[in-house]
Amino acid sequence: MKKLVFFCKIVRKETYAAILYEDEDILAFMDIKPINEGHALIIPKKHAVLVEELDNELYLKLFPIASKIAKRIRDVIPETTAFNYFIADGKDAGQEVFHVHLHIIPRKPNDGFGFTFEEEYYNRLLSKKEREKIRDKIIPI
Ligand SMILES: [Zn+2]
Repeated sequence: MKKLVFFCKIVRKETYAAILYEDEDILAFMDIKPINEGHALIIPKKHAVLVEELDNELYLKLFPIASKIAKRIRDVIPETTAFNYFIADGKDAGQEVFHVHLHIIPRKPNDGFGFTFEEEYYNRLLSKKEREKIRDKIIPI
């Protein structure tokens, strides 16, 4: 028997989540381990592991709702001054639950959260030629 992914269980109401928003396609709920107060997750109800598996209509629905939720969080949690919208799309990108989810992460000044880079990263800028070489590898789309 196939093991149900945790978020599918939330969709089926087999596992508890503090649900924030729900319609026929989308579910949003509070993150169990929030980076800041208000940290929420928004998922398509239909199971998909990666963004590329999502139907276009579905992910077109994710962002307007995410933005509405963010606006509401900013209204009720006044120390929120900014947001990160974050998707870990695959294990090496930090995905831990293998059902597509968009993080809505409220940010405040000096909250200590962020990406970290090696010092060398900041001094490494690609030339026009290097950027075009990579671009040409990627196109056509
Ligand atoms: Zn799932």
